[in-house]
Amino acid sequence: MNISVPAGSDTTAQDYIERLCLTVQDFPRPGISFRDLTPVFGDPAAFRAVIDDLVRPFAGEFDLVAGIEARGFLLAAAVAYATGTGVMAVRKPGKLPRSVLSESYSLEYGDAVLEIHQGDVVPGTRVLVLDDVLATGGTLGAATRLFETAGAEVIGCAVVLELAALTGRARVPRYRVHATVSA
Ligand code: AMP
Repeated sequence: MNISVPAGSDTTAQDYIERLCLTVQDFPRPGISFRDLTPVFGDPAAFRAVIDDLVRPFAGEFDLVAGIEARGFLLAAAVAYATGTGVMAVRKPGKLPRSVLSESYSLEYGDAVLEIHQGDVVPGTRVLVLDDVLATGGTLGAATRLFETAGAEVIGCAVVLELAALTGRARVPRYRVHATVSA
């Protein structure tokens, strides 16, 4: 593994993201500036700093961490392990073998559907929803609706990077949304 940022006690999650996040122009479609957080996740100190930052505002307030396919899975599993909570994958269509709850939405570059298993969420469970990037907010909106439909209490959403100009927070107005970096 290429550790490109020396671990230092005064290096914040924001510093790591600023130094390591790559912007790829015209991916996956012309006109989109894709924010590639892969190098942040691949750096041990950066990944730990990001996981700690995502949890901080919600510490002790959730029982289950939901990660949105696919990069949200990486974050959710780490947060769940670090906090002793459960983890659930919010999936793209056709992946889950049992009856599902489905939500359609639009995102920065197309339309999509998210699903969770019907009956996997115990009503009243306090859920923190995680994803890597908040763009137009359609993805977080659909994920939060899934858990509301399942009878859970969504206590908030956390993302590594918010593209503030796209005003995605407006699509999840009822929830606290924490972004490690808002750019
Ligand atoms: P949105 O629903 O528009 O907020 O889009 C957020 C979802 O799409 C997240 O799962 C992101 O991984 C992905 N996404 C959207 N726009 C970008 C972008 N510019 N760079 C990286 N990922 C993005």
